[in-house]
Amino acid sequence: MNAKSRPKINIHGHLLLDPARKGDLPTRIKRWEEWNVRYFCCSCASSRPSSRLPGVFENHHFLAAKKEYGDILIGFAGINMHPDHLDGAADVERYREQGFRGLKAYGNALPYSHDAYFPIWETAERLKMPILFHTGAFGGVDWDHLELDRYHNACAMNCLPLHLDRIAHNFPRLNMIAAHMGGYWASDVLFMTRYFKTVFADWTGGSAGKTHIRLLLSALLPHPGLETDMDDPEQNLALQSLPQFCFGTDNPEPDRWVGPSEMILDRLHATEEIKKRFYYNNAARMLGMEEVA
Ligand SMILES: [Zn+2]
Repeated sequence: MNAKSRPKINIHGHLLLDPARKGDLPTRIKRWEEWNVRYFCCSCASSRPSSRLPGVFENHHFLAAKKEYGDILIGFAGINMHPDHLDGAADVERYREQGFRGLKAYGNALPYSHDAYFPIWETAERLKMPILFHTGAFGGVDWDHLELDRYHNACAMNCLPLHLDRIAHNFPRLNMIAAHMGGYWASDVLFMTRYFKTVFADWTGGSAGKTHIRLLLSALLPHPGLETDMDDPEQNLALQSLPQFCFGTDNPEPDRWVGPSEMILDRLHATEEIKKRFYYNNAARMLGMEEVA
């Protein structure tokens, strides 16, 4: 099947406050439909900024858009993760009642596996809300906001993907998505997507640019010094993790991500079954929706 026409769920997208950056929402939805994106999971910023302001929709912006544009939009509520304004079980319950289907973890001042966050993870597990975790890094020093940067304490150490291992052990039915494939810590994500059926990943990031695609392939391709039968999962180890990967775009539109995704999947000899899981069925399963045949 041609990659453009495959049914898709975008597990990781954002709506932007400034429409000049990507076009207004009706225009964007038309573009998604051209790429057969049936659902767009919108990761929202939390109501209390806990890192640099990315200029994306906060929870309340999303709820207003959802009223107008309906089914295609699926909300992942941004959770407040700073100890000064930390969300708890009641907040997660409220997000679910408002219609959010998942949560977005970003800008955490404490490590993801810290006990302080356990009431959030426990409630999400109980309410069957998958959580998309920003994993990898937050970039360099924010020189324009040094004091704020220190206060937010959002650093790579706190969002290392390996923190998801402790969460997976404690909340074994909680579905999690390691966004950006953990960045430079991709091997942690490959280990967890192999061992935990509840840990998923997307490989968004770097605006789908050349540097990012090279980093992904360096982590996913087999050792260049060894002969590899690419169809044997015991030799081409990526095949043991790929079944847990999901299609996402982060900020770019699907036209930027379908081509590179397809190239990576083909390079790694992904089967038809893996592709269906990637573009649609993994996300559908996490969200309790019907899968495509
Ligand atoms: Zn994102």
